[in-house]
Amino acid sequence: MTKTETKTDFLVVGAGIAGLVVAHSLSEFGKVLVITKGKLKQSNTYWAQGGIAAVTDKEDSFESHAEDTTIAGAGHCNGFAVKYLVAHAPKAINFLKSIGVEFQEDPVLEAGHSFPRVLRTSDYTGQDILNHLIKAVKKKKNITVQEDTEAIELIEYSGKCYGAFVRHEENEEITPIFAKNTILATGGCGQLYEKTTNTTGSGGDGLALAANVGLELKDIEFIQFHPTALDKPDNNRYFLLSEALRGFGARIVNERGESFLQKFDKRAELAPRDLVSRAVYFELMNGPVYLDMRHNEASNIKKHFPNIYKRVKEYGFDLGKDLVPIIPVAHYACGGIPVDLTGATKLPGLFAVGEVACTGVHGANRLASNSLLEAVVFSQAAASALGGNLESEQAELIDTTIPLDIPKIVIEPMDQVMAYSKRLGQIMWKHVGIIRTTEGLEKAKKQIISIPARDYRIQHRQLICYKIIEACQNRPESLGTHYITSELV
Ligand SMILES: Cc1cc2nc3c(=O)[nH]c(=O)nc-3n(C[C@H](O)[C@H](O)[C@H](O)COP(=O)(O)OP(=O)(O)OC[C@H]3O[C@@H](n4cnc5c(N)ncnc54)[C@H](O)[C@@H]3O)c2cc1C
Repeated sequence: MTKTETKTDFLVVGAGIAGLVVAHSLSEFGKVLVITKGKLKQSNTYWAQGGIAAVTDKEDSFESHAEDTTIAGAGHCNGFAVKYLVAHAPKAINFLKSIGVEFQEDPVLEAGHSFPRVLRTSDYTGQDILNHLIKAVKKKKNITVQEDTEAIELIEYSGKCYGAFVRHEENEEITPIFAKNTILATGGCGQLYEKTTNTTGSGGDGLALAANVGLELKDIEFIQFHPTALDKPDNNRYFLLSEALRGFGARIVNERGESFLQKFDKRAELAPRDLVSRAVYFELMNGPVYLDMRHNEASNIKKHFPNIYKRVKEYGFDLGKDLVPIIPVAHYACGGIPVDLTGATKLPGLFAVGEVACTGVHGANRLASNSLLEAVVFSQAAASALGGNLESEQAELIDTTIPLDIPKIVIEPMDQVMAYSKRLGQIMWKHVGIIRTTEGLEKAKKQIISIPARDYRIQHRQLICYKIIEACQNRPESLGTHYITSELV
């Protein structure tokens, strides 16, 4: 599967759900090269548990799904994009079924939804979807997948994008890959925070690549914090206790075993994530907070959530018997590179899909299980639009010589990179987290700039941290996940 290509019709950067769906759909139009840093299954998609939202019941409606999305998004959503998303959800589900994904018959309820409309295969739905996508992509002769290949800079020439410079992890070589169209599908940026559910690859690379060619980023102050991560860090990330557990009756309680969410919102456990995260955050100031499923039979929990049950047991807790300690952690980037409904960015030849893109559907706070959906719907839309793009002027220019300077990057030892990443994460967590203050943001900005970023990975992270802070400062009022106060907490 690993092979070095230097020229392609479509270069897809990233191999999560968005990258693989767009690659699969594009393969009918031309040669597709998918590159991913690390190995194929190292993505957030692999870890998605809950499922994918779609209207499949006659008693449910697109209007209701759109309304729930907009309410969760604090009214900041792009209404047209939301309508497109929910209306194309059944087609997205049919596509996933066509490649072999087997959804359970009855959709489940998740927080913020007014109807049980979350489709799942198991409690590791992302993994199931990804495995089927990998199989489907492998069957396509037009698609090549290169692992251990990291995009480090976009090739921009005369106001257009012609591919990317990549670094091959095997031999550290940097080479250009020319493409008629480049599609960023690099996922989120949770790893910019000390505490996150995100995998190590989610450091906001795509945002940095886009920002470095002068593209503005949109809504990046809206970092979603998931309220129920298991409070035991593991390998640089926190294990998620899916929202579906609350849909199944799990309660959130304080150390006295009391429910407290009702005080914050009458929907309590089923309120949108931003509200629940803040409520948990404030309660944590008084003592530990727990997820409580003890009123369910362990056998029933095991039946519905076999993988989560097993994993939590490995951390030393029995979901049927124990209170499980939780904390809210960074989970999802609601904003990103602004795109239209076909994934087009402001730079001709450059597209973005999945979590790295900002279609506007999530507004200021994403509704549960709308992310996998967004990735499929808009990756398919991007592929349809891109299919007609091959014969363009761009296509001809690619075969002429573009003057190139191989980027001169500094690569520092990994322990140094990790130490600086950790420092950035701590600053972001402390000052740019669930509760932000004007003073804290200013402090964070100064501390972030003071980190001596020479290695390109730290430069990328530093740039995006800085841009997130600026975005927070440009929004002095609280909205959705962005909660800002003048009082120190
Ligand atoms: C624990 C967890 C549970 C979740 N549960 C759900 C859920 O139930 N439902 C839901 O809708 N959403 C869920 N989400 C969110 C959802 O999983 C993600 O938003 C979605 O999978 C993002 O898909 P993506 O393809 O955009 O990015 P990813 O799946 O993260 O893939 C990004 C890809 O880009 C690659 N990459 C990154 N940078 C570079 C680079 N510089 N060069 C080359 N390759 C690069 C990565 O290696 C990876 O292959 C969950 C997220 C997490 C973390």
